[in-house]
Amino acid sequence: MPEESHIYKPRKTEDMSDRAFRLGEGKISGYLSCSLGILSFLAVLCYQFPAYLTTADLRAVYDAKILQVALMITLWSSLGFALLTFILSKHRRLGAIGVVFSLLAFSLGGYTIPVRGVESNTLSLGLDWLILTLIASVMIFTFLEKIIPKYREQAILRPEWQLDLFYFCFNHLLIAVLLLISNYFVVTVFGWAASSQLQAWVQSLPVVVQVVILIVCADFVLYWSHRFFHENPGLWKIHAVHHSVEHMDWLAGSRNHIVQTIVDRSIAMLPLYLLGADKAALDIYVTFAAFQAVLVHANIGIPFGPLKYLVVTPLYHHWHHSSDKPAIDSNYAVHLPLFDRLFGTYHMPSQHWPQEYGTTKRLPRTFLGQLFYPFKRSQ
Ligand SMILES: [Zn+2]
Repeated sequence: MPEESHIYKPRKTEDMSDRAFRLGEGKISGYLSCSLGILSFLAVLCYQFPAYLTTADLRAVYDAKILQVALMITLWSSLGFALLTFILSKHRRLGAIGVVFSLLAFSLGGYTIPVRGVESNTLSLGLDWLILTLIASVMIFTFLEKIIPKYREQAILRPEWQLDLFYFCFNHLLIAVLLLISNYFVVTVFGWAASSQLQAWVQSLPVVVQVVILIVCADFVLYWSHRFFHENPGLWKIHAVHHSVEHMDWLAGSRNHIVQTIVDRSIAMLPLYLLGADKAALDIYVTFAAFQAVLVHANIGIPFGPLKYLVVTPLYHHWHHSSDKPAIDSNYAVHLPLFDRLFGTYHMPSQHWPQEYGTTKRLPRTFLGQLFYPFKRSQ
């Protein structure tokens, strides 16, 4: 449908007042106590079984003293918030969960466990990676979503937040496995294409230029891989899991079928491997890509001004997630709108946001239902 003939209507967010956080009800302190208690317990498990539950790269940069102080503050805060929850009389169950996990953490050694030398396993779970990214993401993105939201009436605990949190945890725990698979893929399948002359030339360029090259090349391969997932009916069933989100926020982007996650990681790794940029350029690119991937799904209404024509913003990617007719199969780019403009898939009515999100055909609403959905014949 041509863009001009479509009548854009504002989105009507359902009433989420029963899900909202309000001061004085004990719900805020209850959730804080519960989450800090569980995170502390998981952190203590990391201390107890570092070879199996922590990532070697992160262990190399940890400051043991700072981590112990952070764990001490977290544990006592969980108990403090639990007390506040009991005083406020509502949501006592959340406070009780916080107390149980905090006491479990204390019984396993709490914040006094000494840091031991660790023999690295080839494969370990990234529990420490999960804890750190979860804390950082919640702090940065819920703050941004509260101060400059697009949909102010959308609650933090919007429908299906538990499902997307599960996806977040699942993907972060498996980081070592995912890295191993994507490395194996690029080296074995595309090892022949690596050119030392090209890599030496890339490394001779200023870091800023290297970062720009990484962004453009990664976006090119990610654009076509993404488009292929939309246009191939078999692959669409896998990608539809990501599009089944009906409420956009920072957590929504975590919803991905495991096959999708493996393919995306491997495809993204390909230009990084072939170009052989400096570590500084790689670090800047990976940080930019990780931040942008979360930001574009977020419930954030920042007016990006002319920047919105240069980089993919929440408005741009929200349109990709829309089930409004003119937006279907558009805005595939991950970093820059450039390739959507070049290949005719650009959709950006700058004054309007989507009316609806999600797939036109509704998917199962559980992790396992979505895991097996692409392989069912009757779809
Ligand atoms: Zn898509």
